[in-house]
Amino acid sequence: MFETILVDMIPAGRNNRPGTPINGPYFITVHDTANPGKGANALMHAKYLKGEAAEALPVSWHFTVDDTRVVQHLPITEHGWHAGDGSRGEGNLSAIGIEICENEDGNRAEAEARASRLVGDLLYKLKLPIVAVVQHNHWSGKNCPHIIRARKNGWENFLDGVRNQLNAHLGKDDVPMTEAERKQFEALVNRVEELEAQHDMKVPSWAKPAVDRAIELGLIDAPADGSSRDFFRLLTIMYRRGLLKD
Ligand SMILES: [Zn+2]
Repeated sequence: MFETILVDMIPAGRNNRPGTPINGPYFITVHDTANPGKGANALMHAKYLKGEAAEALPVSWHFTVDDTRVVQHLPITEHGWHAGDGSRGEGNLSAIGIEICENEDGNRAEAEARASRLVGDLLYKLKLPIVAVVQHNHWSGKNCPHIIRARKNGWENFLDGVRNQLNAHLGKDDVPMTEAERKQFEALVNRVEELEAQHDMKVPSWAKPAVDRAIELGLIDAPADGSSRDFFRLLTIMYRRGLLKD
């Protein structure tokens, strides 16, 4: 299942929506909002991006995630200004920007889990590998996403969530086996069954004289069915060498 996205775009033509095509996109950049205030959730950031302060900077990104929703502010076909690596920076020009809320009245763990699922959705849709997911820090050296970075194994755990979501999508889309693969698979199953059957064999005709002799001598019980191929071979060798005597 894909995360539900509430679309609330920055109006076209505003200074923080350049409208120029994104390169790729080749990366997904993760941020924390660094705004712990009460009510600083995804909807509030959508409002902020449509206001004068964000336009003046200019600053913009593609998605904001809080504990209850994902809001989209820019089409993923356009670039924003969120990476802090300049007007020609690869981070700004080729990465989708995602901000995770840290408002004190929200559930931060829920927001991070939702963000990791969104990133997994995007990797799947854009056919990008897990290494395409980077921190804001990667582009500008800023300590962002600061909460994830401050927590032990924070980034690794976040990526685990991304991977789980991506794998869930990939698993659903498993392509069925081709006819040749199916035949190969069936042959393998048959071979395994054949090998297993060797451990529970009826007495093969080539082993019959040896088995009869061994029963006669009281060395084994009759019937001798249910033994392995190796057992019958060993018995036959002994018989042929004349070792099965009184
Ligand atoms: Zn950032």
